[in-house]
Amino acid sequence: MPLLDWRDARHFDASRDLPCVLCHRPTSMRSHDREPVHKVCAEEWCDQNPTSDRFHS
Ligand SMILES: [Zn+2]
Repeated sequence: MPLLDWRDARHFDASRDLPCVLCHRPTSMRSHDREPVHKVCAEEWCDQNPTSDRFHS
């Protein structure tokens, strides 16, 4: 399982915060599918859904 690489600027939208798809609190982080999501929320989701590639780069 590859580690998430969220240092990439594509994963950060400085223009606006949107509600995290998992915890619904504002975040400027984006997944590779442009879903607003916190890094910690995505990592937790991946732990709970190990067969999904939803939040993997
Ligand atoms: Zn979140």
